Amino acid sequence: MEGQDNNYRVSPEGYYGTFGGAYVPEILHRCVEELRESYLRVIESEAFMQEFSTLLRDYAGRPSPLYHAARMSERYGCRLYLKREDLNHTGSHKINNALGQVLLARHMGRRRVIAETGAGQHGVAVATVCALMGMECMIYMGRTDTERQRANVEKIRMLGGEVTPVESGNMTLKDATNEAIRDWCRHPSDTYYVIGSTVGPHPYPDLVARLQSVIGREISWQLQEHEGRDRPDCLMACVGGGSNAAGTIYPFVDDERVRIVLAEAAGCGVESGRSAATLHLGLPGIIHGARTLVMQDNDGQIEEPYSISAGLDYPGIGPMHANLFARGRAEVVAVTDREAVEAAYELTRLEGIIPALESAHALGALGRLRFGPDELVVLTVSGRGDKDMETYLSAKP
Ligand SMILES: *Cc1c(COP(=O)(O)O)cnc(C)c1O
Repeated sequence: MEGQDNNYRVSPEGYYGTFGGAYVPEILHRCVEELRESYLRVIESEAFMQEFSTLLRDYAGRPSPLYHAARMSERYGCRLYLKREDLNHTGSHKINNALGQVLLARHMGRRRVIAETGAGQHGVAVATVCALMGMECMIYMGRTDTERQRANVEKIRMLGGEVTPVESGNMTLKDATNEAIRDWCRHPSDTYYVIGSTVGPHPYPDLVARLQSVIGREISWQLQEHEGRDRPDCLMACVGGGSNAAGTIYPFVDDERVRIVLAEAAGCGVESGRSAATLHLGLPGIIHGARTLVMQDNDGQIEEPYSISAGLDYPGIGPMHANLFARGRAEVVAVTDREAVEAAYELTRLEGIIPALESAHALGALGRLRFGPDELVVLTVSGRGDKDMETYLSAKP
């Protein structure tokens, strides 16, 4: 059986334990196969790595700071560092993946790029890089989300991208993803599909994790500079599909001395019927080309997820994370809307940093854990809160 590997990385067949794989319609078989055959050769080539690291530095603004949050450390009784992905160009970690995949598309000779987006952050990041590289750009977004996230729709259009509002289903991220996959089926030879997280068929989860792993590599050398050692005791990140978490833990995942804590969205509460706590509630199933944990009813119908944060309300989860959870390598804390909003206000008042609502879920998990005073904890602040101001004001604790 797949899953006999003794680490947490993807197997040559594309599995993390029993999760992962590539379950795609016949017509996409060649596209996915071509990507699988070329991705490692391209992203490990000297030319790609040069170009990618130059863009990460000069365009995205990396390295992002590793900041010792003294007042938060005192509050939680540990040595807490924040990895500041909120300071990247376009406001989150998503730019790392967008730069990497659009570069890869160019190396594969594609001129047209498509992507799905929920809250619009991935759409904005992809449209940004397409403007930079002169690529044609089509973004699929559920109609409900285009109405909730007007500003991001306008940004994508100003950047020269086209937005197609999707009218099927709940008209949110899941439906936008289905529509992007349909587009890819219609244009298999000239189009590159940029997936926004560590989800989808193999090799996407591994590709996205590798492109985001710059986060973890920086954490390692920055800790060495600050603390004289290159590994933390504990890593914390929020999980929607799992990309900022995957990037954060990537270099440390095989080192069992490093504790991994993932925060998922409990919405109104894990048992409330209104949540996006996929790891707590999900059962094995197939979604968007991968076998993973999926929120579903007894008939296997996908359940609509809910979270106050539009970046976390996905009914699936990356196969890598499903495996880390199943094997007990990662602890998973389900953080409610209210806890997340309170944590965001706390960070803002103690450190002067307004985090994205998604990142606020990682902060909300701090109160559930026990630390020793010398314990080194690194928490990734995946994005900034500008886009969430309306929600913060109306949900003020
Ligand atoms: C999209 C997003 C997330 C969730 O996506 P992951 O792939 O789980 O990282 C988290 N934080 C921010 C700021 C986002 O924009």
